[in-house]
Amino acid sequence: MSANPHFQRVALIGFGLIGGSIARAAKLQGLASEIVTTARSEKTRARVIELGIVDQVVATNAEAVKDADLVILCIPVGACGPVAQEIAPHLKPGAIISDVGSVKGAIVRDMAPHLPKTVHFVPAHPVAGTEHSGPDSGFAELFINRWCILTPPEGTDTEAVAHLRAFWAAMGAKVEVMTPDHHDLVLAITSHLPHLIAYTIVGTADELAQVTESEVIKFSAGGFRDFTRIAASDPTMWRDVFLANKEAVLEMLGTFTEDLAKLTRAIRRGDGEALFDHFTRTRAIRRGIVEIGQDSAAADFGRQHGQLEKKP
Ligand code: NAP
Repeated sequence: MSANPHFQRVALIGFGLIGGSIARAAKLQGLASEIVTTARSEKTRARVIELGIVDQVVATNAEAVKDADLVILCIPVGACGPVAQEIAPHLKPGAIISDVGSVKGAIVRDMAPHLPKTVHFVPAHPVAGTEHSGPDSGFAELFINRWCILTPPEGTDTEAVAHLRAFWAAMGAKVEVMTPDHHDLVLAITSHLPHLIAYTIVGTADELAQVTESEVIKFSAGGFRDFTRIAASDPTMWRDVFLANKEAVLEMLGTFTEDLAKLTRAIRRGDGEALFDHFTRTRAIRRGIVEIGQDSAAADFGRQHGQLEKKP
């Protein structure tokens, strides 16, 4: 039998894209009797009050976690260690402490030493997002059919893991459990490296813009604009991801560089067969992603195209 997804009091520390989406989804699904939240700045806290999604907005992290049965840190990876230290003395015994950080090894390293033995630490990463951030960017449907990866340290109470799993599943996520190291290696290739490539290519194009003037922007539909969406992601979040997942990203970058060299050689030698074989293989990967429901089959990501009027 699956666990009950409901919690009495949920505390969300940070109310941006992810915190705001959890609040909206949890409210919609009735997953908490009470949701209390806080954010670093007065401006964000005032906006969260205006939005009227949560039951209580408080000024400090310590107040937020008081009596909470589930605490989720929805803040940049680099801020999680200091916040864990700050909230540790105020945590309710038996509470589940979690996060949503995109890197897991560094989260366990930075948070676990501060947490009392009386709480259950179950780190999590919802593999879902957009390039937007801030309190207005969240939406209740963000996690539907997306993975949420839990990385509980060895020996974590299985009931606590099952309870958090049920909470994420009730928000529409598919949940998997793995070790932090494995998570970081998988995400390095599926998320972190693609972001690094997007940041690089958009930066390079920006330098070239001097030569091409506004043509990079004008002709961006040739593929470039799909990179610009990823490269518009939050700078703080992604700075922290690369600092925190250094080893795995460097390992994947090494493999990537070798593969790039192979394609470079094929182009230089005019080896059409090598290029064709490679592109055939990658096209099949796209089909696989669509088949398992991780993206739409619509051409050009389902973008609307204008309509041509039929000439009389
Ligand atoms: P966001 O929209 O920028 O919101 C971040 C929140 O954290 C804000 O409420 C902000 O408060 C607060 N915050 C920022 N720096 C802080 C600090 N030093 N101490 C305490 N609070 C701080 O970010 P997000 O996209 O929700 O990302 C939050 C976490 O989710 C990150 O760890 C990220 O790795 C993870 N994640 C993101 C995505 C994604 O696509 N965006 C996907 C999966 C997981 P103020 O508004 O007051 O500054």
